Amino acid sequence: MMAKTYSYACAEFPGMESCPAHFHTETREELFELTKQHAIIAHGESPDDWAAEDLQMVKDLFKEEG
Ligand SMILES: [Zn+2]
Repeated sequence: MMAKTYSYACAEFPGMESCPAHFHTETREELFELTKQHAIIAHGESPDDWAAEDLQMVKDLFKEEG
């Protein structure tokens, strides 16, 4: 049996349609941390300042596979 994986495609977030970043991880927590690091490195964002609605939107876009 395959383990579950979690994925996030940055392009699915409104305004990020041109971003090619796509992550796959074993856990939701790792995916969230990678997503925040990506936002910092690629988009110059400050995830610590994100509104609760934006954080929730990111998490809502996480896909569970397997
Ligand atoms: Zn991105």
